[in-house]
Amino acid sequence: MQIKNKIEHIKDLKQILSSRRNIVITTHFNPDADALGSSLGLYNFLIKQNHNVHVIVPNDYPDFLTWMKGNNQIVVFNNEKKKSLNLISDAELIFCLDFNSLDRIFDLGEIIKRSSADKILIDHHPDPKNFYKHSLHSSSASSTCELISDFIDLFDERKIIDKNIAECLYAGIMADTGSFKFSSTSSKVHRIVADLIDRGADISKIHKLIYDNNSINKLKLLGFSISKRLIFLDKYNVAYFVLNRNDLKRFKYKKGDTEGLVNYALSIKNVNVACIIIEEKDMIKFSFRSIGKFPVNELAKKHFNGGGHKNAAGGRLDKNLDVALSKFLKIIKQNKSKLNY
Ligand code: 5GP
Ligand code: MN
Repeated sequence: MQIKNKIEHIKDLKQILSSRRNIVITTHFNPDADALGSSLGLYNFLIKQNHNVHVIVPNDYPDFLTWMKGNNQIVVFNNEKKKSLNLISDAELIFCLDFNSLDRIFDLGEIIKRSSADKILIDHHPDPKNFYKHSLHSSSASSTCELISDFIDLFDERKIIDKNIAECLYAGIMADTGSFKFSSTSSKVHRIVADLIDRGADISKIHKLIYDNNSINKLKLLGFSISKRLIFLDKYNVAYFVLNRNDLKRFKYKKGDTEGLVNYALSIKNVNVACIIIEEKDMIKFSFRSIGKFPVNELAKKHFNGGGHKNAAGGRLDKNLDVALSKFLKIIKQNKSKLNY
């Protein structure tokens, strides 16, 4: 398994972590359940080992992710730049979780790049940029939370996993496996999750907190999007949503309200690639999903300043909505032969 390849690095880390350290943990822009679950899972683990630990995230995240232990201690870089700078300048180690390149976290990435702290990458996105000293990386891992579980195993410290840590890790694994249905859901994932349940994770509570915690506006936006904003290009096996600024305003859009929406487009019979295009405040955000062989991360990287996984990726354009939509349609047409399978 991948972990064995990296054990030499981990040995050095074991040595470093054998005394109390100033540690910063950070994760990607628009943190999701895996980003926060892995960050707070690791945070709680390191706190219990008596380190001085802070989690810094680049920007705000949705309310349905605020229940994890340690959430109140998270520093949001966009809101607390000075505090973030001080913490980074004091840090001896910086863990970078659930992203593979510092430019994915913009200004925060620049500051981390300049810091003299050793960087440790724990991530499952393909093709990481080499900015780290140590890494635990596997693009076949279901989630970064799965890798945090591996990381804890490398220290033979599984006994430290309490209910709080188990619930952080469970949340990320559940979300990144699409509730255990994506092909990344290995038997190992189920074994880890079984262990997390044994250690106290209340899985029905977590499911409810993440998936059944909707506002009425979110559901109305979902209904509106499906009935008015969903387009199926059957010739291309593609379906997509386009949401403009007025749509978001009409349903009092809050961060996270479009989470999961793209999966409805993907659920249409014969759809191989789905997309949601959202007119955000200062850019057009793209979220891509595919089934099977079409690599949406390559599409996102090549045309939409983004990246991600083969079957789940995102990107952005600094254009107006019409121009962005035309570009998307042009690229779909160019890829027709790769989309029909
Ligand atoms: P989502 O569509 O849920 O925002 O993101 C799906 C996947 O694509 C996630 O793994 C996320 O990390 C990645 N992703 C989303 N937006 C971007 C982006 O702008 N750049 C890169 N490199 N990855 C992204
Ligand atoms: Mn992830």
